Amino acid sequence: MALQPTAAANGAAPPVNAPAAAPVKPDKPARIPVLNYHSITVDPGNPATITPEKFAEQMRYLSKAGYTPLTLKQFSDMMEGIDKGPDKPILLTFDDGYMDNYEHAMPLLKELGFHATLFMSPGMVDDGYFMSWEQIKEMHEAGWDIQPHGMTHPHLPKLNVKNQKFEIAEAKAQIEQHLGTVADVFCYPYGEWNAATLQLLQELQFKYAFTIEQGLTAPSQHKLKLKRIFANGEESLEQWKSRFEK
Ligand SMILES: [Zn+2]
Repeated sequence: MALQPTAAANGAAPPVNAPAAAPVKPDKPARIPVLNYHSITVDPGNPATITPEKFAEQMRYLSKAGYTPLTLKQFSDMMEGIDKGPDKPILLTFDDGYMDNYEHAMPLLKELGFHATLFMSPGMVDDGYFMSWEQIKEMHEAGWDIQPHGMTHPHLPKLNVKNQKFEIAEAKAQIEQHLGTVADVFCYPYGEWNAATLQLLQELQFKYAFTIEQGLTAPSQHKLKLKRIFANGEESLEQWKSRFEK
């Protein structure tokens, strides 16, 4: 004898805990911390720089705490819901292509088995502060994704459409030529963009673009207006952690 009315008897759907219709909890949508670094050097008072020691402390923390720094492919699969991704995903991004990234980030990340993404401006290669193509190739081979940050790191909204297009398309083309990869993830220089920028990125079939708006990154955000978390080199390890851990 049934202990409760059957679905047929009361016209309702079977209870959700019925074995035949085991409830599948929808996976929580991905929320991925995307950390934004620039130069790794000693420059007191400049929050956009971080000392090599402090940077190493942060990377070793991520390793010990069980984070998995993603490739852009893994990031994209999580954003698209194709893959659930690792338990503690994180995307490490480095803007501009400073020589010190090659010196201080690449060897350490290699040692820790971390992936990272570099947003660089091909027009600034080889000018002394920035990496050469040779070094960028080496980073790429070490597991870094290399993506465009404008040809000359311009204030895009100050340019007309033709010049914006050159800045974006030429940077993309040069990276693709030098590395034989697809460059379809953009990072706005100074975090600046306007309607024309968005239109161009769509025309050029960019999948994502990163801003400097603060917060965790989620699939609900506009794909060309993704948030990141600024790694402020002046902050303590605890303050830095609090930006992406609850
Ligand atoms: Zn930049």
